[in-house]
Amino acid sequence: MSSCEHVSEKMSGFIDNELTQQESQKIRVHIEQCKSCSQLHADLMDMQSKIKSIQSDGGEEAALEKIMEDLGAKKTQNWGWIFVVIGSVMMMGYASMNILSEIDLTTFEGFFSTLIGLGGLLLFISVIRQRMVASKTDKYKDINL
Ligand SMILES: [Zn+2]
Repeated sequence: MSSCEHVSEKMSGFIDNELTQQESQKIRVHIEQCKSCSQLHADLMDMQSKIKSIQSDGGEEAALEKIMEDLGAKKTQNWGWIFVVIGSVMMMGYASMNILSEIDLTTFEGFFSTLIGLGGLLLFISVIRQRMVASKTDKYKDINL
């Protein structure tokens, strides 16, 4: 009867059918009689079948493709935000310039509506800024993975 150490050394060869018939017969007999080696054999077989199922899904290539898709989507999203920010800021800037030139700041009404307009612009910019910082943080998370 072979020793457990010998069997565990030969186990992967046994599973891959790389052993001589005599050797693999010895190991088969040992596995049938030894609980720990039979457990090891079952674990390795289980692991191998998992690896095979991953490979049949397309394996690394598919995983890489998925990652690239994610990166592409993120880039598009970032550009989307940049356009939104530039467009909105320019539009608001233009609008508030028009308002400023038309409103008489010496009246309370004009002064307050200018304040409200500027306040809205500042709030909008801070929200966008937070959003940009958040997306930057996401990027670093991705790198750490
Ligand atoms: Zn054993």
